[in-house]
Amino acid sequence: MLQDKDRIFTNLYGFQDFGLKAAQARGNWDGTKALIEKGRDWIINEMKASGLRGRGGAGFPTGLKWSFMPKESDGRPSYLVVNADEGEPGTCKDREIMRNDPHTLIEGCLLASFAMNAHAGYIYIRGEFYHEASNLQRAIDEAYEAGLLGKNACGSGWDYDLYLHLGAGAYICGEETALIESLEGKKGQPRLKPPFPANAGLYGCPTTVNNVESIAVVPEILRRGGSWFTGFGRENNHGTKLFAISGHVEKPCTVEEAMSIPLRELIEKHCGGVRGGWDNLLAVIPGGSSVPLMTKDICDDVLMDFDALREVGSGLGTAAVIVMDKSTDIVYAIARLSEFYQHESCGQCTPCREGTGWMARIMARMVRGQATLDEIDLLWDVTKQVEGHTICALGDAAAWPIQGLIRRFRPEMERRIKEYRARIAA
Ligand code: NAD
Ligand code: SF4
Repeated sequence: MLQDKDRIFTNLYGFQDFGLKAAQARGNWDGTKALIEKGRDWIINEMKASGLRGRGGAGFPTGLKWSFMPKESDGRPSYLVVNADEGEPGTCKDREIMRNDPHTLIEGCLLASFAMNAHAGYIYIRGEFYHEASNLQRAIDEAYEAGLLGKNACGSGWDYDLYLHLGAGAYICGEETALIESLEGKKGQPRLKPPFPANAGLYGCPTTVNNVESIAVVPEILRRGGSWFTGFGRENNHGTKLFAISGHVEKPCTVEEAMSIPLRELIEKHCGGVRGGWDNLLAVIPGGSSVPLMTKDICDDVLMDFDALREVGSGLGTAAVIVMDKSTDIVYAIARLSEFYQHESCGQCTPCREGTGWMARIMARMVRGQATLDEIDLLWDVTKQVEGHTICALGDAAAWPIQGLIRRFRPEMERRIKEYRARIAA
C-alpha cells in the first residue's frame, strides 16, 4: 500500500483548506522558480524519465507529447489546454483535485506551459462542476495576487496567464479536438486527427491538451525527480495514480495508490471489500465505461495498469473502477451505457450516429429478452462496423462494452431470450 509520504495529493479529501497558504504549507509552490530556471529541456527530459503516461484515459507518454511542441515560435503562440471535462461514467478523480488540491494543478500548468513555450493556459472545466470551478478560480486569483501567475510569474522572468473556461455539459467536449472547437466558441464536434493539436490546435496554433491529473502531478515529479516516480508500478506503467472506485463495494472512494496494484488489494484495502464478500463479485469495469468488463476469474489476479489490463482484453482508461456484484442485471447495465453513448454521439459520422442507435435499440430488446438468438451475432457485427471506423474514440467506446458483454456473458443473453420465448409459447 502506498505510504502517506509518497502521496502527491495531500488534501484529496478536503480535510484541510484548499487555499494558497495551506497549499504552501503542504509543499506546493516550493522552489517553482528554481525548477523553471533549470530550463525547458531539463523539464521535458525529467518528465520523459518519469514514464508518466496520460491520466485522461489513453495513456500516451506525457513527456513525449510535450516534445512535439515547437521549440521556437514560428510566429504563432503556443498553448496548454487542460482537459477538466471529466465526463466518463464512473470517473470522479479530477474533480477532487480541483475542489481540494487546486494549487497542484495551477503550479503544474505554469511548469508545463513554460516547458512548452506557452505564455497562456486554458482549463476547460465541465460546466456541472460548480464548486470545483469556484474553488479553482479562487485559487487562480490568489496565485495572481501572490505573483505566482501573471507578469514575471514566481519571479522567474516568464509571463504567464491562466484562464478557466466552463463547458456546457456535452460528454463529447471531453474529446480533445471537440474541446478545442468548443473553446473557440464553436459547436463541440471532434476534428479529424492528424493534424494533432501540437501542429494545429487552439486557433490553429501549437497546443497540448493534457488531463488534470497529468498536469497536477508535474510539480512533485520535478521536485522529487523522474526516478522517484518510476519507483512505483511496473516497467512502462510507472507512478502513483488516482483510482475512483464505485458500485457494489462497502465504501466507494477515490484514492491515490501505486500503479500496478492488484485490483483485489485495491478494493479490499481501500473500499472495505465487495459487498457480500469477494465471492459475491460478478464483474468489474476497471477504467470508466469505455473499456470492456472483466469477469471475477480475471479480477482475482489482475494488476491495475495499462499493459496488464490490455492483456486481459480490457483497459486502464480513466482508472474508474465500477464494481458489480451478483445482484447486478449485467445486460441492463451495459444497455444503459449503450443509451448513454447514443445520446452523447455528436452525429457527424455515420457509423457512430447510426451504429450507436442500432446498438441501443438491440440492447433494449436484449434486456427484455425480446431479441432473437441470431441478433447476438448481429449486435457483434454492428460493433465491428463501428469500431475503428469513426472520427473519434466515442465509436469504439460504444462498441467495446457490448463486445465485452457478448464475450463474457453470452449464455446470460441466450438464457433471457430462451426464457422469454418459452413464456410467450406457454
Ligand atoms: P488518443 O490515443 O487518440 O490520443 C491520446 C493523446 O495522445 C492525445 O492528446 C493525442 O493528441 C496524442 N497523440 C496520439 N498519437 C499522437 C501522435 N502520433 N502525434 C501526436 N500526438 C499524438 O486518445 P483520445 O481520443 O485522446 O482519448 C481516448 C481515451 O479517453 C479513452 O481511452 C477513454 O478512456 C478516455 N476518456 C476519458 C474521459 C474522461 O472523463 N477523462 C472521457 C471520455 C474518454
Ligand atoms: Fe461524433 Fe461519434 Fe463521430 Fe465521434 S465517433 S465524431 S462522437 S459521430
